[in-house]
Amino acid sequence: MNAFIGLGANLGNARAALVSAVRALSGLPDTRFVKGSSLYASAPVDASGPDYLNAVVQLDTALEPLALLHAMQAIENAAGRERPYPNAPRTLDLDILLYGTLELSGTNLTLPHPRMWQRAFVLLPLSEVAPERVRPEQLTAVARQRIERVAQAAEWIALPEQKQ
Ligand code: ADP
Ligand code: MG
Repeated sequence: MNAFIGLGANLGNARAALVSAVRALSGLPDTRFVKGSSLYASAPVDASGPDYLNAVVQLDTALEPLALLHAMQAIENAAGRERPYPNAPRTLDLDILLYGTLELSGTNLTLPHPRMWQRAFVLLPLSEVAPERVRPEQLTAVARQRIERVAQAAEWIALPEQKQ
């Protein structure tokens, strides 16, 4: 299944955290890295703290949505993620944005990600990886949010040799 993952970090060495997160995601069981977006810097939304670095990656995975979420939470925890209060600055945040076209509304997992349509730092990188999944008017709706591209995909994503 095609899964689109949103990555964000705004504490510590955020770029290094995103680089290792892409590696960790690509190394999950029954999972293959397909494509990654440029790296973006964005102002915090509904939150305080330093600017965020953000990106979106597309995975091809046989993991079920909840198994994927749990594996992503283990990656967040390994990166030193703490949750002192909602929207607190974080060393690493991994969200499932889209899992195929699955719609789900559960206690632990909602798909598509419920807040993604309000966030330029999700929609811009997602539209780069999967233009067909974001409509122009959705991009227009978040056009006033401050966000800038800081590195092209090939510059920041360094993967070890791809698994077949
Ligand atoms: P944030 O909403 O700021 O990303 P967390 O990363 O701490 O905060 O996530 C809070 C909760 O959001 C998690 O416990 C998770 O169960 C839930 N959640 C619901 N839908 C999703 C999704 N699509 N991707 C990731 N987490 C989700
Ligand atoms: Mg999250």
